[in-house]
Amino acid sequence: QKKIVIIGAGVVGCSTAYYLNKMGQRNITVIEQGPLFETGGSTSHAPGLVFQLGFSKVLTTLASQTVEAFKELSHEGQPSFYSVGSLEVANTQERLDDLKRKAGVAKSWGMETFVLSPEECAQKNPLLNSDNIYGGLYVPSDGIAKPLRAVDQMAHFSKSCGTKFYGHTEVTDIEVVDDQVKSVETSAGRFEADLIICCAGFWGPRIGEMVGVTIPLQPIAHQYVFSNDLQELGAETEEVSMPIIRHQDSAMYYRQVFNGIGIGSYQHRALPVEVSEITKYGEAKEMPSVKPFTPEDFEKPWEDAQELIPALKQAGVKRGINGIFSFTPDGMPLLGESQKVRGFWAAEAIWVTHSAGVGKEMAEWIVNGAPTLDLELCDINRFDTYAQSPAYYKKRSIENYEKVYDIHHPFMQPESSRDMRVSPYYMRQQSLGAYFNEKSGWEQPQWFEANDSLVATYEKNILERKGWAAQYWSPIIEAEHLHTRQYAGLYDVTAVKKRLEISGEGALEFLQHLTTSTIDIPIGQVTSTLMLHELAGIKDEIKVIRTAASTFFVLCTGAVEASWIKKQVPVSSRVVIQDLTNGMCGLSVIGGKASEIMNSLDSQAFVKSEWEIGQAKEGFIGNVPVLAVYDSYGGTERWELFTTSDQGLKLWDVLFEAGRPYQIIAAGDRALESLRIESLSLRNGKDFWSEHNPYEVGLDHLVDLNKPTFIGKQALLDRKANGPNLLLTPLLLDDPSMVVMGYEPVFDEDKVAGFVTSAGYAYNFGKGIVYALLSPETVHKSSQLSIEYFGKRYTATRMTQSAVRAHQ
Ligand code: FAD
Repeated sequence: QKKIVIIGAGVVGCSTAYYLNKMGQRNITVIEQGPLFETGGSTSHAPGLVFQLGFSKVLTTLASQTVEAFKELSHEGQPSFYSVGSLEVANTQERLDDLKRKAGVAKSWGMETFVLSPEECAQKNPLLNSDNIYGGLYVPSDGIAKPLRAVDQMAHFSKSCGTKFYGHTEVTDIEVVDDQVKSVETSAGRFEADLIICCAGFWGPRIGEMVGVTIPLQPIAHQYVFSNDLQELGAETEEVSMPIIRHQDSAMYYRQVFNGIGIGSYQHRALPVEVSEITKYGEAKEMPSVKPFTPEDFEKPWEDAQELIPALKQAGVKRGINGIFSFTPDGMPLLGESQKVRGFWAAEAIWVTHSAGVGKEMAEWIVNGAPTLDLELCDINRFDTYAQSPAYYKKRSIENYEKVYDIHHPFMQPESSRDMRVSPYYMRQQSLGAYFNEKSGWEQPQWFEANDSLVATYEKNILERKGWAAQYWSPIIEAEHLHTRQYAGLYDVTAVKKRLEISGEGALEFLQHLTTSTIDIPIGQVTSTLMLHELAGIKDEIKVIRTAASTFFVLCTGAVEASWIKKQVPVSSRVVIQDLTNGMCGLSVIGGKASEIMNSLDSQAFVKSEWEIGQAKEGFIGNVPVLAVYDSYGGTERWELFTTSDQGLKLWDVLFEAGRPYQIIAAGDRALESLRIESLSLRNGKDFWSEHNPYEVGLDHLVDLNKPTFIGKQALLDRKANGPNLLLTPLLLDDPSMVVMGYEPVFDEDKVAGFVTSAGYAYNFGKGIVYALLSPETVHKSSQLSIEYFGKRYTATRMTQSAVRAHQ
């Protein structure tokens, strides 16, 4: 039994203790600086609105898990969750369209929702003025959580299992020896710990500082107001019986509180609070998480509130607070063990909405070695060094606060803290009119205005996008795609993967244990392989290049995967992992003329017939040292070239010059992605994630079951024997003028059978193409399916195995 210390007895700390106990952990201590359990943290005054549907599957699932858990936790006969439903109302046609899209996403994630007319909205909540409403999204299973009641019950259970709760006890320091936590210093003495879980809410950054780990969150005050009693609710005796309301067009939300209304507003300017400014419990009249109300910030929201709920006019405002809670640079929680300090775990920046789900997944992660849900998007290690400065994450978190109720397009870009990382060719890309998006801090060209003239050349093949799909899109993307196939494209792949060098005594054995296929390959050979976690879910598909007997160059998806690899190295091992990402850059020459271009650069070194697909060589292009990898991409040839950052600009210029006679163009990431989807290649995080095993997503050819051991092997054998839960399957849309965007529900007759992962356009078929994760029954029985897009169904045909093979 590990000695586990949890810092913070808010809803997150108590949920985590509860689930750890449920999973048999019996040596748990919870330390809380405030009183138990109305501690003065954010949980103490959260109004508890639960809108489960989030923009990601993981947040939606964490919310559904929380609702299920809270429903089971009644306190002295009073429920911890009121299933009163929710209504999200639209003031514009654009918002209504977005609600239809959200209704589709909800179906993909298995949630029941209804798009209602204005009249139906008013029937659900008679206080609503439906005159200016276009419609609403109704989610019957949403409602109001009572986190303090749930906390009380969860703590009661934990205590019965032996967990000790210490109130009025402040954690003042943490002892770390050899990068491993050892103990917690508190105002009441020292507590030994093998594992510490930081559930300190917006105080998290202060705890992180004790161990040198950045907890990149910004506390922000947010206005919540109580109205006086409404005549219309005069006879009401229940705390809440009406659906909660979200009005995103005015960035506000509403709930009934007995005879009055609770009103939350995100409309006001962001009100960031420094952790150092936060009072201690008892120091001020209000709780530490409450700042004085600023009425001037509520003037316009109050007007909007009366417009939406006219009965508020007569009632007026009773009181308000500026309550503090946490925001992060990407709006997602911060979960998991820090890669810097073993045994230091975080469960931070979590709403009540996701709290019990987080507690459950954290417990599974700690006890089983992996959570059931894929938590990549929430992993605390997802931020590279570029994102560790307060200057970066504070600005970004504030921007997130301001946009929290905006319509979120998948390609919408952050505006603050840009230009954090640029590749050596950035200035060339700018002069070619690159349209940049940010990826892991890198400015990554999406397409180039310099290629505008190609649109006319390929016009008759380009499918014009409409509506939602036309936003953040340009026909140049399609022209770059088509031109690459015929001639060649020069792609900046600096941001696409992380570059690691794994070397030293035992490097081969380490990689053999880490991956599912053999890594004992000849020097100069490349292999694609999988890393599985302990429960056989896919952590990543990686590329390993052996550059010397004990040195391997590894390309993995991102910071989370890189940190996971590092964590697998045993403490006593002599294996060295160096992250070369910042010091190296990458360029890909892709397309029909790619090999001719390479050959024109060096007719000795780049003779196509002397290279096998999947071969790598170190050498020079002119005087630029490169690691060159030859393989195929999107059904055409690809030369991937890596060099040090100081040589990158030169490499760009040399390749561009050599490619000129072959009509090479600089092309952007969207064309690269389009080529990938068209050729049915898979991408980690998009088409599969750690909830899936290789048999479910068609990556079992990368598994060698004859290998004596690898991480997750036994679990994989078990999962193989049990059969797949889902199967990744390509579909072609029947209507040649249709494309979808991803995450739409797929129907088998009238039943939701799964959802779309990647979506694009297959030029060689002249049709929209998607991958979908479908139920095995559907895959075995049905070939005609339909995809719901903005509330309408479009038929799609499942591709047969032979069609897929011929296509790839
Ligand atoms: P907290 O409840 O803050 O708990 C952290 C605990 O750690 C505190 O009790 C603190 O005292 C303790 N601690 C910190 N440092 C130390 C230390 N050094 N030693 C010992 N103990 C320490 N969420 C929703 O889902 N729906 C809503 O409708 C909603 N509305 C909100 C409205 C307002 C006005 C506010 C402020 C928040 C709202 N939230 C809502 C957000 C939600 O309340 C929080 O995200 C959630 O309660 C955070 O829970 P927690 O356990 O992480 O943090």
